[in-house]
Amino acid sequence: MRHAETVTFGGSALDRADTLRADQRALADAMSDPRSSVLALWRGRPLFAGPGLDRLVRLPVGHAALDGAGEPILIGREDGCAVFAADISHWMPETAEEPSEDAEQHHPALPGDHAFRELRSSMTALGPRDAELAATARAILGWHRSHRFCARCGAESAAARGGWVRVCASCGGQHFPRTDPVVIMLVVSGPRVLLGRSPHWPGGMYSLLAGYMEPGECMEAAVRREVLEEAGVHVGAVRYLASQPWPFPASLMLGCLAEAESEAITLDPAELEDALWVGRTELLDVFAGTHPRIRPPRAGAIAGFLLRNWLADRLD
Ligand SMILES: [Zn+2]
Repeated sequence: MRHAETVTFGGSALDRADTLRADQRALADAMSDPRSSVLALWRGRPLFAGPGLDRLVRLPVGHAALDGAGEPILIGREDGCAVFAADISHWMPETAEEPSEDAEQHHPALPGDHAFRELRSSMTALGPRDAELAATARAILGWHRSHRFCARCGAESAAARGGWVRVCASCGGQHFPRTDPVVIMLVVSGPRVLLGRSPHWPGGMYSLLAGYMEPGECMEAAVRREVLEEAGVHVGAVRYLASQPWPFPASLMLGCLAEAESEAITLDPAELEDALWVGRTELLDVFAGTHPRIRPPRAGAIAGFLLRNWLADRLD
């Protein structure tokens, strides 16, 4: 698909600086270099600035807001200067309760127009570079938070190579950041596409069918299995279309075109509350917000991207 990488989080050709990860001395120099910058994240929320919180903030190394942060992770290089990410989840805002998804947190050491906010709320406003940096920082810091201990022997492991591996001093085990592949399918039968809704989704929300890939399974088989399990529809040909890193917390969405070989729907009620075939004219109503049952897909997610491109005949 020629437009694949225009999806949200589709990437910006960031230099991930693998040679710098491997060079401990250069890495230590970069950590104290005033030209380097640091992305601060608080409990998975990046720091944004600007009127619409549409700009990812790059703090100077040693900024007061980074006091007490864990070891910075090397995210990449911009214009030859290193960009790190630091987790400041230890900071306690004045309001102690768990923040809602659309809440913003203001840090006393930062200007008033700076705030930590859920990446989902800012992702469609970011440019490709800020989106890639934010997605990468959120995913890798989240992995470190949930993988402190060695999966082989249980001892505490330590970050190495700029944060792109955790090494266990006790058994020598090396653990690499996880990315969990998820297939998401545009299942088509002639001029109609299959949409479904999970039992706990907000009213009117429908999307493409999706599911985690299993060990030992290729992408095409995962597409056929998920569609058959969830909706009872048989799928024949499967073609890869586009991928989307989805750092909530560590998924990689693999968008596929799947040709249905049957249309009768048999729901798995644990997975789907409803599924239906939707034609092109009806889908136009969905995107226009005038459909009586189905809300427009959430902006930024690959489901809406694939559906829009299917409507526009741009899957080639
Ligand atoms: Zn170990």
